[in-house]
Amino acid sequence: MGSRKYDIGVIGSGIIGLATAMRLSREHPRSKVVVVEKESRIAQHQTGHNSGVIHAGIYYAPGSQKANFCSTGGAMLRRFCDRHEVPYEMCGKLIVAVDETEVSMLEELYRRGSANGAEGLEIVGQERLREIEPHAAGVQAIWSPNTGIVNYDDVSSAFCDEMREKGGELIPNAEVTGIARRNGTLNLETAAGDVEVGAVINCAGLHADSVAMMMGQDVGVRIIPFRGEYLSLKPEKAHLVNGLIYPVPDPRLPFLGVHFTKRISGSVEAGPNAVLALKREGYSKTSFDLGDTMDALKFPGFWRMSRKYWKVGINEQYRSVIRSAFVRSLQTLVPELQDHDLHMPGAGVRAQAVDTAGNLVQDFSIAQTENAIHVVNAPSPGATSSLAISRYIVDLAKRSFDLN
Ligand SMILES: Cc1cc2nc3c(=O)[nH]c(=O)nc-3n(C[C@H](O)[C@H](O)[C@H](O)COP(=O)(O)OP(=O)(O)OC[C@H]3O[C@@H](n4cnc5c(N)ncnc54)[C@H](O)[C@@H]3O)c2cc1C
Repeated sequence: MGSRKYDIGVIGSGIIGLATAMRLSREHPRSKVVVVEKESRIAQHQTGHNSGVIHAGIYYAPGSQKANFCSTGGAMLRRFCDRHEVPYEMCGKLIVAVDETEVSMLEELYRRGSANGAEGLEIVGQERLREIEPHAAGVQAIWSPNTGIVNYDDVSSAFCDEMREKGGELIPNAEVTGIARRNGTLNLETAAGDVEVGAVINCAGLHADSVAMMMGQDVGVRIIPFRGEYLSLKPEKAHLVNGLIYPVPDPRLPFLGVHFTKRISGSVEAGPNAVLALKREGYSKTSFDLGDTMDALKFPGFWRMSRKYWKVGINEQYRSVIRSAFVRSLQTLVPELQDHDLHMPGAGVRAQAVDTAGNLVQDFSIAQTENAIHVVNAPSPGATSSLAISRYIVDLAKRSFDLN
């Protein structure tokens, strides 16, 4: 098969790749855009396994990309959903301090959220907390009415449809296995044949570091996979949760703590935790991949991370294996919940960048190299922020690539 030629190749059809390809096709109709995807369908990894929350932007350091992209991205996402009739619901969220020791952290979160422009935040006492979520327990909470839920598969499909309407293409079953520079262009060797592109936007999520490496670029971090395991509430117990109930998170970590999430379908999920995974796409407790594990073990940052966070890591592993410990965490938020109220285990895997010093990279990270832009770190709230991230990437591309 002769190689196909495009101006820009987006690697990965998760929500960020598709948002970027859609914007490129819309704003540069004379540039040929292609998305190459290793799976047979779009959104099969982080995007298709997430909690479906439209975050309001409460947790993130003021001035960070997470703070900025989450609040602008959330508003852009809702406008997109309105225009394309993608259902979403602004069901609101409670972040609950379960005892007095958590109140100062809750107040700090309130200050952060307000500084980030999260709309309508209120600190509420027990009475109001019980009005909003009659089965939740806590001494104080933040009420965020501007948090919502959506199915990010549906959003991704709508992005993909619009990208195609504007002339962009998707090549499924096309895992990129090598990238070679040839006469000023880049040749993507894929499972579906060669694809020649003028520039690459690397949106490969859990494989973003490996794809950068194929171009000879070390982006200075490794993607470490963290599995998020959850259980669903049995339908007859879904009434225990009206919307979204979250704990006060551990400020050292970029994860939000096990919580209750109402889905747009009406079901309720409990979780996810954050367990180190031994495979980038390791959705079960027994998933193991020698290559992925060796990649992590060979990276000095992995060992430094393990030294920094070993206690948290052991607790998470324990809570993953011992179901009663997982249920106990949930009971701190909703005491009535019983083990037998939960069923249907599921999981997603987060792509979390870790730097050489062993820090979990807190902010989004987007790097540029010759003829390429790499989305290096885009965990939660990456789906909420996808349209704002795509705008940032396309602005970078305009300045750096030859676009028509
Ligand atoms: C458990 C969990 C819960 C979350 N909850 C939320 C939430 O409620 N709200 C929110 O805003 N965010 C949430 N997130 C984060 C959000 O899902 C991510 O930020 C977002 O999906 C990232 O999108 P992406 O396009 O970068 O990655 P992905 O969706 O992972 O897409 C990457 C794509 O690249 C493809 N790919 C990889 N390597 C190659 C290759 N070599 N060749 C071709 N294709 C390749 C993959 O197959 C995949 O389709 C959650 C994440 C997880 C895991």
